[in-house]
Amino acid sequence: MGKSSKDKRDAYYRLAKEQGWRARSAYKLLQLDEEFGLFEGVTRVVDLCAAPGSWSQVLSRILIKGEKFGRAGWEDKQAKDHAAIHGTAEEKNHVAAPESRKDVKIVSIDLQPMAPLEGITTLRADITHPSTVPLLLRALDPETYDSTSTSASHPVDLVISDGAPDVTGLHDLDIYVQSQLLWAALNLALCVLKPGGKFVAKIFRGKDVDLLYAQLKIVFERVRVAKPRSSRASSIEAFVVCEGFRPPEGFAASLDNPLGAGAMLSSEGQQQPIKHTPSSLPSRHVRGDGITEVELGDEVEDEAQASSAPSPRWIPPFLASGDLAAYDADATYHLPLGRTTLDPVQPPTAPPYKRALEMRKRMGGAYGKTKLGGSGGV
Ligand code: SAM
Repeated sequence: MGKSSKDKRDAYYRLAKEQGWRARSAYKLLQLDEEFGLFEGVTRVVDLCAAPGSWSQVLSRILIKGEKFGRAGWEDKQAKDHAAIHGTAEEKNHVAAPESRKDVKIVSIDLQPMAPLEGITTLRADITHPSTVPLLLRALDPETYDSTSTSASHPVDLVISDGAPDVTGLHDLDIYVQSQLLWAALNLALCVLKPGGKFVAKIFRGKDVDLLYAQLKIVFERVRVAKPRSSRASSIEAFVVCEGFRPPEGFAASLDNPLGAGAMLSSEGQQQPIKHTPSSLPSRHVRGDGITEVELGDEVEDEAQASSAPSPRWIPPFLASGDLAAYDADATYHLPLGRTTLDPVQPPTAPPYKRALEMRKRMGGAYGKTKLGGSGGV
């Protein structure tokens, strides 16, 4: 699909280029903030899976430069316009040159290199690897970093993660890999968040996602799921918004013994291996025609057992976020006359396809050329 047809088919793709965002995902974070006030009282943030960097741009523009967006942005503009005309000399000066905040600390991590952004420390690292924790702790507190400690000396207020693997098209595999990224993000968050802190992360609403919700509910006071208007309705993507981090007493986060598919947290804060009860194991039955039927044992059939067993499942409230007047991510819009196509704000620094293109060029074309053909060869 060309740039111009994508401009029409995806209003947020076009708008991102017009408004200087590196990716359309910026609107997802802005719309989540509009609904949940994510940045209130926040000065220390970690942005996981951050490249090409539109979420980091949002952090930089709101937290460092003090810009406002959405309804708050409109009200702020009214107030500034008023101060510029009717304000005192000091107010007029402030409107002309707003000050950047110096007390804000933002660290962004991605596997891919990321073009620099003002006021942001960027790390190229794998969030699923335990060696990333000390890197992150050092970046957060370069002066006070203690290599013997596994938690931040000045813990952070907010961890956000927009992690997504390269999609293979194999639905179950994509959901599995995405859930591994999410567990990695949660484990990192547990190492650096301060009590009361927030965690926002992309999820794919696949089967068994309620197990994840139940785990989040143990470590956060409030867990909600949100679908920003800029996220296509046709996509199973959504975001968990977890507020009020409350690590259970005696719980110490560690990436050597992370929470995840093999280990879960009990409501008392103890890590425990997942046990399969007979009722949760699949039952097999060989039919007369030789076909084996496998029945997944998710349901607890015995009602008495169901009411006495602690349920590992929990469904959080689901909210749509973003102004109803905002663009619909699934609609096609016509570009007003005279609008030309725009180039991306930040071309990818090291896209995975770059190496393939180089190899193809070296081989002399789409399929290379044989030695008999003369030129080329590998
Ligand atoms: N939030 C970003 C923005 O606004 O520009 C977009 C993030 S993009 C949807 C997903 C990112 O996850 C990719 O840049 C990818 O490199 C990163 N990613 C995937 N697996 C990762 C891993 N194991 N560690 C770090 N980053 C990872």
